[in-house]
Amino acid sequence: MHEDVVSPLDERLEALQTKVGVGQSLARDRNEQDKNSRPSSRFAEYGCECAAKACEQLVLLTLEDYEGVRRVPTRFVVARGHVDSRVEVVVRETSRYQVVEKFGVAAEVARRLDPELLSRRLREIGS
Ligand SMILES: [Zn+2]
Repeated sequence: MHEDVVSPLDERLEALQTKVGVGQSLARDRNEQDKNSRPSSRFAEYGCECAAKACEQLVLLTLEDYEGVRRVPTRFVVARGHVDSRVEVVVRETSRYQVVEKFGVAAEVARRLDPELLSRRLREIGS
């Protein structure tokens, strides 16, 4: 018979991944809100979207690059070295920033809190 036992270690990791996922989604929301007020110059400053709440590091990337990251709800742009390997893997890197992709619970949280997905869903409900 199969027993569904969650070990304390799994629970701790899940709690951590949830916390990290929420923090990064908040950082993403801030960048999304700033988007419209940006100059149309090639490079723009974005707030690092790493899990550290107090992180105020800025990363330079083009709007095109930023939109590319945003197309995948579980991807975030962070300053180099601001990667938490417990909850994410680096999928792309340049000399200025790294793009990370969440896995596990952090990915679930990021997907649930994705502003574009949410508004799409709301539009679907409204139509
Ligand atoms: Zn950071």
